[in-house]
Amino acid sequence: MNIDETKKQLEEMKLKVQREIANVDRSVQSIPDSEIAEEFEGADIMNGKIDNFRIKDSLIEELGDIDIALSKIKKNKYGICENCKNPIEDKRLGMYPFARYCMKCMIQFDND
Ligand SMILES: [Zn+2]
Repeated sequence: MNIDETKKQLEEMKLKVQREIANVDRSVQSIPDSEIAEEFEGADIMNGKIDNFRIKDSLIEELGDIDIALSKIKKNKYGICENCKNPIEDKRLGMYPFARYCMKCMIQFDND
C-alpha cells in the first residue's frame, strides 16, 4: 500500500464529500416550508426533505471517518483496526480507504 497515494485519495474524497454536503444544503433551502402544507404534493416534498437530511447525516459521518483516517496517517497508525489492532485487509482499504475496522470486527459488530 502506498501511503502517499492513499493520503491524496482521502483528501480528494474529503473535498468531494464537503461539496456534496453543500449541495444538499442548497437543495434543502430551495424547498419553501410555508407552502408544504397547502400543496397537494406536500407529503412528497416533506419526504424529500427528510431524505436530504439523512443523506447529509451519512455524508457528515463519512467526513468524520475520512478525517480520522487522515489523522491516523499523520500518526503512522493508518490501516490498523481500532478494535483488534490487527492490520486491516488491503482489499478492504482499497474499497474503503477510511475503514476504521477490519473485516472480522465489522462482521462481529453487524451481528451484535
Ligand atoms: Zn479488527
